[in-house]
Amino acid sequence: MGPGRPPVDRRMLLVCSCILAAALGQMNFTGDQVLRVLAKDEEQLSLLRNLEGMKPQKVDFWRGPARPSLPVDMRVPFSELKNIKSYLDSHGLDYSIMIKDIQVLLDEEREAMAKSRRLERSTSSFSYSSYHTLEEIYNWIDSFVTEHSDIVSKIQIGQSFENRSILVLKFSTGGSQRPAIWIDTGIHSREWITHATGIWIAKKIVSKYSKDPILINILNAMDIFMEIVTNPDGFAFTHSMNRLWRKNKSTRPGIFCIGVDLNRNWKTGFGGNGSNKNPCSETYHGPFPQSEPEVAAIVKFITAHGKIKALISIHSYSQMLMYPYGHTLEPVSNQKELYQLAREAVKALYEVHGVEYIYGSISTTLYVASGITVDWAYDSGIKYAFSFELRDTGRYGFLLPATQIVPTAQETWMAIRTIMEHTLKHPY
Ligand SMILES: [Zn+2]
Repeated sequence: MGPGRPPVDRRMLLVCSCILAAALGQMNFTGDQVLRVLAKDEEQLSLLRNLEGMKPQKVDFWRGPARPSLPVDMRVPFSELKNIKSYLDSHGLDYSIMIKDIQVLLDEEREAMAKSRRLERSTSSFSYSSYHTLEEIYNWIDSFVTEHSDIVSKIQIGQSFENRSILVLKFSTGGSQRPAIWIDTGIHSREWITHATGIWIAKKIVSKYSKDPILINILNAMDIFMEIVTNPDGFAFTHSMNRLWRKNKSTRPGIFCIGVDLNRNWKTGFGGNGSNKNPCSETYHGPFPQSEPEVAAIVKFITAHGKIKALISIHSYSQMLMYPYGHTLEPVSNQKELYQLAREAVKALYEVHGVEYIYGSISTTLYVASGITVDWAYDSGIKYAFSFELRDTGRYGFLLPATQIVPTAQETWMAIRTIMEHTLKHPY
């Protein structure tokens, strides 16, 4: 028995939150599993890719088929488990069960949020070690910019498909037309650790900007822009209906499936390998480049600004730090510099809690992916373009417990600070 409440009480709370979830029509994932497959060679990888093609709505790849050395994680609904396991067995693909019952983790997550919400209400405070809804995050943004109006302001850069505000935080100590750094989190809505990390980092910047000499130097010369909820419709949907939603929520006449993968909708390499023309796919690239308002808003803002010198786009999970290109194996012209910088950033990250990241270009480290944010940024003249995949490596995947928010944010911050410092010291 743990401290505080006896276990029966905890079970009651879980039962209550389940009933509430069901009443609200949330998707239930009882019995769904995450399977990890270790492909031995290219041939086995292509068997897994076929599975994706055959059943785009049935098998949900959490870590897609990449290279034989990288595991493939897939969520398989309870109703498909028998079929998929026999497919794997019949082709000699070895697998293990990473998550035995997804709903168990979802119930725990929901309960932790409810508990934290009660505490936040009773103390009128915001907990940086909890997950929050879109409404809670937007309320936090409002009070955050009010409290720290000397350094932070809020800019609306557009509206989502469902007409939600797309907001950016601007950190600036003054000046005009300063060069700047862009950070976005949550372009894939189910990657909750990324929004939570962004919020913690925003708070870190305001609490440290007069104390940390490196940050002082950075903010004396540059502004920082942060888009915390880059996919607001998808994010709202992860709370109201489907915790595991990745894409945005756009619909088009005559197309049955909903949503475009916002990290396949950018102009550079649009429609190429590692994106999908099937609207039902999780990596559907959309009808044309920048068709999605969430992507178009960023393109418009960054282009109009004209002096963004570093762009950092944050995803989860896999523990990786990567740079362009994604759409081709061809190295970028400053690849040596980006490799060195990634190495330094990963080292700074490791020193905080001993967590290991791998690094390199996207196409060689992860897989070929086309129409992605950082490729567009690089080809638009932002030579320090990076993409993170935060914790973990698959024990919890997208359902990383809230107890890991603060440590994840602390180590990520040190890596980001390294990239910002390098950008400051290498003006262009
Ligand atoms: Zn992602």
